Amino acid sequence: MDKKVLVLTEIRDGNLRNVSLEALSAAKRVAGNGEIVAAVFGISGDEVVATLSRHGAQKVYIVANEKLQQYTTDGYFQAFCQVIKEVNPDVIFLGHTAVGKDLAPRVAARLGLGLISDITDLSLEGEDIIFTRPIYAGKAFQKKKIVDGKMFATIRPNNIALEETSASSTAEVISFSVEITDIRTTIKEVVRKTSGGVDLSEAKIIVSGGRGVKSAEGFTILKELADVLGGAIGASRGACDAGYCDYSMQIGQTGKVVTPDLYIACGISGAIQHLAGMSNSKIIVAINKDPEASIFNVADYGIVGDLFEVLPKLTEKFKNLVIT
Ligand SMILES: Cc1cc2nc3c(=O)[nH]c(=O)nc-3n(C[C@H](O)[C@H](O)[C@H](O)COP(=O)(O)OP(=O)(O)OC[C@H]3O[C@@H](n4cnc5c(N)ncnc54)[C@H](O)[C@@H]3O)c2cc1C
Repeated sequence: MDKKVLVLTEIRDGNLRNVSLEALSAAKRVAGNGEIVAAVFGISGDEVVATLSRHGAQKVYIVANEKLQQYTTDGYFQAFCQVIKEVNPDVIFLGHTAVGKDLAPRVAARLGLGLISDITDLSLEGEDIIFTRPIYAGKAFQKKKIVDGKMFATIRPNNIALEETSASSTAEVISFSVEITDIRTTIKEVVRKTSGGVDLSEAKIIVSGGRGVKSAEGFTILKELADVLGGAIGASRGACDAGYCDYSMQIGQTGKVVTPDLYIACGISGAIQHLAGMSNSKIIVAINKDPEASIFNVADYGIVGDLFEVLPKLTEKFKNLVIT
C-alpha cells in the first residue's frame, strides 16, 4: 500500500538539521506512490522549502507561529498534534534528537500511537515497515514493526543515507495555523556549551579524547586535527570527570550516542560504557600507548603510540590532503 508520510523537521540556527533530511530519505523508502509531507515549525523561507523539496517533500506545512520560534515541550506538542490530525499520515518520522526524544513519547501517548525510537534502519516487507534499532547499548539490533495504527518512529542521526531527488521539484507550500494555549516554560537564554564547531550528534568525523589527553590544554591538539578534518570534538567520561572538558562532550552510555563515518579515539581505554556511545561508528581509529587497551578490540585501525607524538603528525599529513 502507498503511504502518506509526515516528517517533522528541525531547524537549528536557521538551518535544517541533517537528521530531518535523513528522515525524508527514510520516508522515500517507504512511501511508494504515496505522499511525503514535511512540517516546519517557527520559521518560513524559500530556502528551507527548496531544500525540503530537493530531498523528497511533496508538501510542506509551514507553521510560522511566533510561539514556536524556540522549542518548548508544550508549544511543539500542541502544534505537532494539530498537524498530525490535519495531515492524517500513515507514518510519522522525526529525528532522535533532544527535541525528538522529548516530543515523540508525549505525542504517542496523547494520540494513542505505538512508537519505535532510535531507529538506525528500515525496510518494507509487504505492507509492513520493519524498523531496526539497537539494544543492549548497541551490542545487538532488534527488528520491530507496529501492528496497529500509525507507524511512528524517531531516527538516529547519521544512519539513513541522504538521497536527493531532482533539483527542479518544488513542494506545495501550505501555511497552517495552530492554536497554542498554555506554555508553562519561558526560555530566558540559550547557552551553548559547544561554541561554534560541528554538532557532535550529527558530525561525520569525531576526534575524541580520554584521560590519556592529561589536561584541558591537551585537547588543543585534538582540536587542531578536528579542524583540519571538519570534525567535532568528543570525550570520554574519564576526561570529563577529570575536568578536561565539558560534560556536553561526553560520549557513551550516560553521554551522547554517536555514529560518525570516522571516530578517532585518543587516549581512551575503551570501557564498555564508552563503547556504548560510539561502537556503531563506521570506521574507528584508536590511538593508545597501551597495546592491550580494549579500544583496539573495536577499532578498525589502531596506532600504538603516544597521542602527543601521533596527532600532530596526522594533522600535518591531513593538512596536505584535499578532503572531499
Ligand atoms: C554507570 C556508568 C556510566 C558510565 N558512562 C560513561 C560514558 O557515558 N562514557 C564514558 O566514556 N565512560 C563512562 N563511564 C566510565 C567508564 O567506565 C570509564 O571509567 C571511562 O570511560 C574511562 O575513561 P578513559 O578511557 O578516558 O580513561 P582511562 O580508562 O583511564 O584510559 C586512559 C587511556 O589513555 C591511554 N593513554 C594514557 N596516556 C596516553 C598517551 N600519552 N598516548 C596515548 N594513550 C595514552 C591509557 O593507556 C589508557 O588506555 C561510566 C561508568 C559507569 C559506572
